[in-house]
Amino acid sequence: MLFSELGLSEQLLKAVAEQGYETPTPIQAQAIPVILQGRDVLAGAQTGTGKTAGFTLPLLQLLQGQPVPQKPRPVRVLILTPTRELAMQVYESVRTYGKHLPFFAEAIFGGVSINPQIQKIQRGTDIVVATPGRLLDLIQQQHLDLSKVEHFVLDEADRMLDMGFIRDIRRIIALLPSKRQNLLFSATYAPEISALAEQILNDPVEIAVAKRNAAADTVSQLVYGINREYKRELLSYLIGNGHWQQVLVFVRTKHGADRLAKQLIKDGIRCAALHGDKSQGARVRALEEFKNGSITALIATDIAARGLDIDQLPHVVNFDLPQVAEDYVHRIGRTGRAGAEGQAISLVDPEEAYLLAAIEKLLKRQIPRVDDTGYPNVSLAVTNSKPQPKPAQPNKPARRPQNGRPGEAAKRAPNSRKPRPQAAKPR
Ligand code: AMP
Repeated sequence: MLFSELGLSEQLLKAVAEQGYETPTPIQAQAIPVILQGRDVLAGAQTGTGKTAGFTLPLLQLLQGQPVPQKPRPVRVLILTPTRELAMQVYESVRTYGKHLPFFAEAIFGGVSINPQIQKIQRGTDIVVATPGRLLDLIQQQHLDLSKVEHFVLDEADRMLDMGFIRDIRRIIALLPSKRQNLLFSATYAPEISALAEQILNDPVEIAVAKRNAAADTVSQLVYGINREYKRELLSYLIGNGHWQQVLVFVRTKHGADRLAKQLIKDGIRCAALHGDKSQGARVRALEEFKNGSITALIATDIAARGLDIDQLPHVVNFDLPQVAEDYVHRIGRTGRAGAEGQAISLVDPEEAYLLAAIEKLLKRQIPRVDDTGYPNVSLAVTNSKPQPKPAQPNKPARRPQNGRPGEAAKRAPNSRKPRPQAAKPR
């Protein structure tokens, strides 16, 4: 299938060609024609599948086919995203694909001054990409009117619900005209998503490109059973010994992200933390440094990392396992993208064994274990579904390494004398 067979305009085909895309991805091939027909769509697609172009290209084309409205231009396309990062990414995509078209787009999200956003909106804009909170602020202050919206996109709807946006979403939908096109994208289909889809969508075309709750086949997954106190050292070792250039590390809390980033910096690894308490400037900077290779590791919480578009990320590490099994699929979806091979490593403390069990139940298979971690062996067996209490005295390393100073791990050459090539040795 070629882009030219999808019925897209010359200006859009030119923008696509300038991006170097040769063929449409499966979600694009399926979604573009039905969106062009004006149908509602329920799409099961993760980040990395090309879903953004899958809805942006046909929506731009639909705008192109309509008469240019009077000034100031009303908002005709509203795209809601869960995070600022995703809002920025989608906004950039709209600009990229629409660069040969005369439309205006704005990104609206919190954490930055509201005034420039107000000024831009007052000039009139065709397309708004927004996170729910700031959008509602602007509406309440009467700077934004959604009564002319013709196309509504809910991107990463599952994450929106996880983040507690359901009431905001309902309030926003109540402000839209009832006659409109609705597109709902979600990586997973929890029952709440089906309920939301039923409320919002009108006779939708259902499209699923990734198997439901399936992990990408191109990602090799491994589990290291390891006591929490050794996780940092093992991670440093894996990065240094494997000469990893780019690794996204997931942690559970913002505080944990900051702490791990500080520790890795002491180990000589260039890294930054990305989480919701960072200023917008710091988040953008961290992401840019990670994308351009000036830092090796990005330590992120789930919410901050959601939807990050980082091409062909080779390594993802679950420093902490996610509390919700579906998040594991999202996390490892950052790697092995667009057919590239990726590696997803989970460092699992016995207390997290029940979380691992839930993930494996969801995946319907066991993730291979690395038996010989170089650290005291731990059992990841669960006897019930509750958190397993940690033994009062964690196992101490069986023996001491010859050269195992803290932080040493990252600096070791890959072929330095190590009895166990797969992992660091205990201190
Ligand atoms: P998304 O899933 O929308 O976040 O897109 C993931 C990545 O795929 C982005 O970096 C896009 O630039 C890229 N992409 C989108 N469509 C195509 C295509 N047809 N061919 C190659 N890359 C694409």
